[in-house]
Amino acid sequence: MTTAATASRGRVSIESVHKSFAGTEVLNGIDLQIGPGEVTVVLGPSGSGKSTLLRTINHLEKLDRGSIDIDGELVGYRRRAGKRGASLQELPEREVLRQRTRVGMVFQNFNLFPHLTVLENIIEAPVSALRQPKAQASSRALELLARVGLQGKAGAYPRQLSGGQQQRVAIARALALEPKVLLFDEPTSALDPELVNEVLDVIKDLARSGTTLIIVSHEIGFAREIADRIVFLDQGQVVDQGPPAHIFGPQAHPRTRAFLAKVL
Ligand code: ADP
Ligand code: MG
Repeated sequence: MTTAATASRGRVSIESVHKSFAGTEVLNGIDLQIGPGEVTVVLGPSGSGKSTLLRTINHLEKLDRGSIDIDGELVGYRRRAGKRGASLQELPEREVLRQRTRVGMVFQNFNLFPHLTVLENIIEAPVSALRQPKAQASSRALELLARVGLQGKAGAYPRQLSGGQQQRVAIARALALEPKVLLFDEPTSALDPELVNEVLDVIKDLARSGTTLIIVSHEIGFAREIADRIVFLDQGQVVDQGPPAHIFGPQAHPRTRAFLAKVL
């Protein structure tokens, strides 16, 4: 998967993004520029807007204001020239679904289909959304299972697997669409402590492969090890960002330092 094509794609540009729920501003003007292949870890207190930010990147949440584009293509909207200047018009559902195939998402609770086998979980989207032939999707799925260390589990059902194994299936499922960007929302928070590392190791392997990763995680040591950049979000704003040396150093924003002092 480390090809020129994967290394040169996955640029995410987030500009002035605002989002409220019931009058409460959850994202309060987010600006972030993420380069192709960059690994970004998002830290922040509970309720700071981390999940909402991830969900806007694949248009699971609509924006109130601002824009997100991936490799130059606006997410969820098209620009429309009008009498009073350009405005954004929401894309039709099928276009949103097409865009979503380019952004993989891995959730805290795995979200596998319980009635499908591991293999069926992985090939579902490639076959139904990308119209890949079943044989091709299956052989690719077996490669991905090997990559996440789960050879031999193709015929198992999710309930027969540990949480760590289920999460690795969820990662294989996300990779099956060859996404430009992979989003992880607290991928190890629901796992027993002894299963955390097997999932983090798979993510570390991906980090080296040139896929753009945006990871919400409270695993501070992991963040420090793999992040090109750490973003500290608080009350819907990017309070601080930089390489780990900045975030963990004396120049970090006082709110970053206060947060780290609580979690470290
Ligand atoms: P984090 O992931 O950092 O904990 P979230 O993005 O999940 O934060 O949530 C930020 C705030 O937005 C929280 O106060 C949460 O209750 C609120 N929120 C999130 N999603 C919704 C929703 N669909 N409807 C109403 N409020 C929401
Ligand atoms: Mg969250």
